[in-house]
Amino acid sequence: MAFPSDLEIARSASLKPMDDVAAEMGLPQHLLEPYGSDVLKVGLNAIDELADAPRAKYILVSAITPTPLGEGKTTTTVGLGQAFKHIGKRATVAIRQPSMGPTLGIKGGAAGGGYSQVVPMELLNLHLTGDMHAVTAAHNLLSAMVDNHLYQGNKLGLDLTEITWRRVLDMNDRALRNIVVGLGSKSDGVPRQTGFDITAASEVMAALALTTGMDDLRGRLGRIVVGYTTEGEPVTADQLDAAGAMTVLLREAIKPNLMQTYENTPVLVHCGPFGNIATGNSSVVADLIGLHCGDYLVTEAGFGADMGAERFFNIKCRVSGQRPDAAIVVATVRALKAHSGKFRIVAGKPLPEDLLAENPDDVHAGAANLRKQIENIRLHGVSPVVAINAFPTDHPSEHAAIREIAASMNARSAVCTNFAEGGAGAAELAEAVAEAADEPNDFAFLYPAEATLREKIETIATKVYGADGVSYAPLAKRQLNTYERAGFGNLPMCMAKTHLSISSDPTLKGAPTGWTLPVREVRASVGAGFVYPICGEMRTMPGLGTAPAAARIDLDEQGEIVGLS
Ligand code: ADP
Ligand code: MG
Repeated sequence: MAFPSDLEIARSASLKPMDDVAAEMGLPQHLLEPYGSDVLKVGLNAIDELADAPRAKYILVSAITPTPLGEGKTTTTVGLGQAFKHIGKRATVAIRQPSMGPTLGIKGGAAGGGYSQVVPMELLNLHLTGDMHAVTAAHNLLSAMVDNHLYQGNKLGLDLTEITWRRVLDMNDRALRNIVVGLGSKSDGVPRQTGFDITAASEVMAALALTTGMDDLRGRLGRIVVGYTTEGEPVTADQLDAAGAMTVLLREAIKPNLMQTYENTPVLVHCGPFGNIATGNSSVVADLIGLHCGDYLVTEAGFGADMGAERFFNIKCRVSGQRPDAAIVVATVRALKAHSGKFRIVAGKPLPEDLLAENPDDVHAGAANLRKQIENIRLHGVSPVVAINAFPTDHPSEHAAIREIAASMNARSAVCTNFAEGGAGAAELAEAVAEAADEPNDFAFLYPAEATLREKIETIATKVYGADGVSYAPLAKRQLNTYERAGFGNLPMCMAKTHLSISSDPTLKGAPTGWTLPVREVRASVGAGFVYPICGEMRTMPGLGTAPAAARIDLDEQGEIVGLS
């Protein structure tokens, strides 16, 4: 019999009443706001009210450099959360809310997979409690205020060619990447070129994910820079009187959503910022709550350890003031083989047959990537654990090869079969993580806030990416000077580079050396609270492919969703 689909498995889950899930976390009834029967929002007062409850160990799930298919971080995060119950511990999981664009596009759902999923998966993947829509509305309110300001006479002197604030939509829609607004008659606005990004790429999303509370959010939204005057002075959302109303539109979205896994482990689902031009991490507030709800809080950071984990350590933990206790590097046989440089994995295409044949030597040939990503965790003083996410096409000798690579780096490792078997399949990982988290912790940021913007970029490029140095295009140099002058120099760095290589060239596999990081342009998300240098082609509005997932999704005669993978 074929292995059931993610949707079939998710449907077979026996859900616990949400009140019981919350009660087991120690969340009192008055902090819970039901949204239907399978999800509830947790009031932000939980942060203060739970402050005296014991602190959980804080576990980050990261990975080797992924292939376009994803290597199973969410699956491992959910599986590990479930596994703790199998070793007699209580865990909470914290993940991002999936973006609907990719769900209907190429990626399918993002609830984990197999018997390690967040349920109900259709609720998680489609709309949930409307937070994405609230972020979209708050963002587009500011866009409308910008264009209205131009129409009403542009008192602030915004330079029409220097307006950086665009519009957003949670849809993969390439036709909206570049548009002209204000066409028509004089009363229809001021014509200018602009465009749409996907909601996950919105600075409002990044600000919501990094905020510590309502007042802090109001401050961040007010500091958002929408563009520059003809004199080069930044113009903010506060100057446009937009931030108050934006905060109001986000008053529900700021509360984390509580769901459960297939095995009834509590899951806080909150925010979904992009992983290239933003942090790629779920929210600070969900973690501040989840850290007082059990023995372990397991959270995922997007892409490889050079990307999401580096931001988790240097941006998210700087904001939250929290120290991680251990970090997992998810590795797969197929991705390490791809890092040998011998194979190419293309999204939407079947895996090459010779990649699936038993060959531990090919796994060893890709070892440099795993070694470097383990090192990237240790750079921050955190204990790494390698999770070998087992696929049905793997061979035991290939798992042994990954274990050997981990051992050569003195890192713990465990083979995880939680996709096929649920939490029990990650019990060995849970034991290894528990040991690692009990080790002395030397967590430290990679750079101090006071370092110059250039020093921050160069530190990340050389230490985390293994570059020889950094080259700046003239535009990037000018922008760095502008930002330092404008007082943005203390912000942390969020490098916008490809996730498909540790280098800035997506075709380079393993752990490339002897290269220079090119910084083409530098942008500032002043409201969210970081500067992001652009080191390559960055897509902020994905498109649909030749066979979008949406084409398979429908309702059957019983009114049940089909085709959501
Ligand atoms: P990431 O979070 O790293 O992007 P996901 O956990 O979302 O990765 O997994 C990517 C895809 O691979 C999902 O469709 C998931 O169901 C599938 N997957 C993950 N682990 C396994 C596994 N061990 N066996 C089969 N499929 C898996
Ligand atoms: Mg994921």
